[in-house]
Amino acid sequence: MKFIILFDNIPLVMKKSVYKLFFIFLTAAFFSQSCAEGEKEYHKADFALGTVCSVKIYTNKGGREVEKIFGKVFSELNRLEEIFSANSGHSVLQNVNDNAGKKSVEVPAELYSLLERAVYFAQKTDSAFNPAIGAVVKLWNIGMENPSVPTEENLKKALKKIDYKKIELKNGSVFLTEEGMQLDLGGIAKGYAADCIKTILLGEGIERGIIDLGGNVCTIGLKQDGSPWRVGIRNPVIGNDRSSAAYLEVSDKTVVTSGDYERFFEKDGKIYHHILSSKTGYPAENDLRAVTIVADTSADADALSTSFFVLGLEKSLQLIKSFPGVSAAFFMKDNSVTLAGKKLEVFKILDDKLFIRDNLMQ
Ligand code: FAD
Ligand code: MG
Repeated sequence: MKFIILFDNIPLVMKKSVYKLFFIFLTAAFFSQSCAEGEKEYHKADFALGTVCSVKIYTNKGGREVEKIFGKVFSELNRLEEIFSANSGHSVLQNVNDNAGKKSVEVPAELYSLLERAVYFAQKTDSAFNPAIGAVVKLWNIGMENPSVPTEENLKKALKKIDYKKIELKNGSVFLTEEGMQLDLGGIAKGYAADCIKTILLGEGIERGIIDLGGNVCTIGLKQDGSPWRVGIRNPVIGNDRSSAAYLEVSDKTVVTSGDYERFFEKDGKIYHHILSSKTGYPAENDLRAVTIVADTSADADALSTSFFVLGLEKSLQLIKSFPGVSAAFFMKDNSVTLAGKKLEVFKILDDKLFIRDNLMQ
């Protein structure tokens, strides 16, 4: 067995500390299994989409061929960033935002269809998931440089600019009908990117692998011995970064978690995290600490994990009924875990403090 790690192209501007990134990198490798004769395990991690993106594949292709495949994968991530980023001055999304209240912008088909999907989730969740939340996200700037608690006045102004119903999608073009509106697809585009990478790998004949885009995990096929992949869920308790809270086993599924520990800052002893309520403009506050979704597509799982995190447990338990095939684990602040949706064969708690309160999976 050969295990190579290619870790290059680290940009100078890193948003997370090297320590944290290195930790995530190790975590991603933690559950790796040795592969059987003939196949080798290859792993590449790099920074993209503001996070560490790690891809592990198992193949009997040669090293050069694998390097080409990894090249395609990471160019794809850069390409997607050029379209979907709300943080770069020159993405297609930014162009749509810059033209808010002015004119309609023709966009690539994949941005158009991801926006349609995002609007679908906004409708399903009564704006709990909101792709037009950009004005409020920018005001807080959580996870970026100099986050701050906005003034009530600024928040009030920004809240007037986040009505997703004012996203006009027509004939391949997008128009934000009010000046100052800003799209933000941070809650769904990482998932979409994971789906794109999976498609590339399948197209290259890769039958086994794991994609991890900063916690958006996508699995391909089964392990060589025919058993499912084991995916660890990061401990949602802030300060417990080093441990896994639980693991589950899946094949050909995606596992996506949203939590208040992912990006946050502290001010006057209070923690402010990055998943915001369209109603208040403040970080969504309920009894949830994190939500993990298992589904077929990572874009949907990403949107659902963000949606459920904002909605809270009770509303999410209602909503999940309209998503057959989706499983969810709700990690609550009181350390209880509720499981709902489609039954998972294996879900195991690893942290002694956590306990399963309800298993509603069917
Ligand atoms: P999720 O729960 O999946 O999503 C939370 C994110 O969604 C928030 O950060 C915000 O962007 C948005 N959001 C907040 N509230 C809501 C809501 N109610 N409804 C819908 N969406 C909401 N990070 C960097 O630091 N630097 C970068 O240059 C950078 N570039 C990126 C480019 C792309 C194309 C993408 C997809 C992400 C990028 N990111 C970057 C990361 C991004 O800013 C988010 O932090 C990240 O997507 C959050 O993922 P999550 O899984 O932690 O949380
Ligand atoms: Mg999400």
